[in-house]
Amino acid sequence: MAKASGTLYVVATPIGNRKDFSARAREVLAAVACIAVEDTRHSAPLLREFGIASRLVSLHEHNEAARAAELIDILKAGRDVALISDAGTPLISDPGFRLVNAAQEAGARVCAVPGPSAVTAALSIAGIATDRFIFEGFLAEKTAARRERLAALATETRTLVFYEAPHRLAESLADMVSALGGARQAAIAREMTKMHETLYRGSLDALAAAALRDADMSRGEIVVVIAGADATQERAGEAGEALLRVLLAELPLKQAVDLAVRASGAPRNALYQKALGIKADKPGE
Ligand code: SAM
Repeated sequence: MAKASGTLYVVATPIGNRKDFSARAREVLAAVACIAVEDTRHSAPLLREFGIASRLVSLHEHNEAARAAELIDILKAGRDVALISDAGTPLISDPGFRLVNAAQEAGARVCAVPGPSAVTAALSIAGIATDRFIFEGFLAEKTAARRERLAALATETRTLVFYEAPHRLAESLADMVSALGGARQAAIAREMTKMHETLYRGSLDALAAAALRDADMSRGEIVVVIAGADATQERAGEAGEALLRVLLAELPLKQAVDLAVRASGAPRNALYQKALGIKADKPGE
């Protein structure tokens, strides 16, 4: 792209409290030729409140590819464009990846205007190790897919972070207890920066039980943070997998899993999913 190309600014907006809208974010949004927003009806009141009158164009998961091409043309014409999402940082469980990629590919300058994101906000208050973490976004809606994913995370030693829909919280916590064990320390950060902000902390067992009792716990927006597996769980997982590989060559799947669980102490769900994976990798065995 010619030197005179415009800049794509990827701008974070508040996740609740509007005072978290940074001065730089407001300045950039007021100055660009147009702002790509997930939902114009959602973002218009926020932008109006701060006197930002730049043109809005909608960019969501269903029109992103086509819209990205139009926005690249604006950049090529030397004008600046901004991208925001409904709340927080674009691209974090939100659309924008295709646009950012297309802008990079077209040689445009892409600048971050960082700010709030629920993942970092939750980690910053959970009181669970943050030196290494993995962000899993939303778990699948379908029960089988959700359990399969959780089983695959059973021996993960890094802190786990999930976004969760309120109506699925109790069900997901129950699945997390089965897959990861109820003793793990966890935190549920609800409605951060808003009037009903609440942080619930405790073992996964205790939080799963509380979610069934306390309807408030699953109201509003929610992030779940869970401590990673400890070294014992990690070793049990490794030992269980090694045993499975030997046993599966000789025994039916269920029997191999039963024995590997008994001998290693690894979680059943995790070894069962692992066994399915091993079988799928070696069909006919
Ligand atoms: N891009 C956003 C970000 O940077 O955090 C996330 C968008 S994602 C579609 C929305 C999810 O983020 C919600 O379902 C919830 O899990 C989490 N979330 C957003 N705002 C939150 C808040 N104020 N408190 C707790 N969780 C929040």
